[in-house]
Amino acid sequence: MRTYSFREEGESFTVEASSRAVARKRAVAELQASYRTTANVSGRPVFCDLYEIVRGIPDFLKTVQVDPEGPPCVTEAHAWEEVKGSLRGHGPGVTYTERCDHCNATRHTDTYGQRRDNGRQGYLIVTYVQED
Ligand SMILES: [Zn+2]
Repeated sequence: MRTYSFREEGESFTVEASSRAVARKRAVAELQASYRTTANVSGRPVFCDLYEIVRGIPDFLKTVQVDPEGPPCVTEAHAWEEVKGSLRGHGPGVTYTERCDHCNATRHTDTYGQRRDNGRQGYLIVTYVQED
């Protein structure tokens, strides 16, 4: 086992693993686990930039996107229906809204979505709104 160092949002953390590839997978899994609740509560994805620290220098590894799981349905699974007239072009992508026939939850998809933290575009962003 070796110790590999990573950084995210200025916070460093280490992962014990048998290889660099395994360490990277574990680092991504740790970030996904730590941001799962935030994504679910806000109903929108969380983005975090993961750096691997190599010989003391942070080297950008990848952007980790943690998607919300969406609200539970009153039945086993949502029955998403596109809201008429919601489909619109957005840059090279599209946006559209769907509503569940069972529970009235709303799912909004933007195939050319923008990160709120740094304004970069081109991400698949799915957000949920649960209406009572
Ligand atoms: Zn539903």
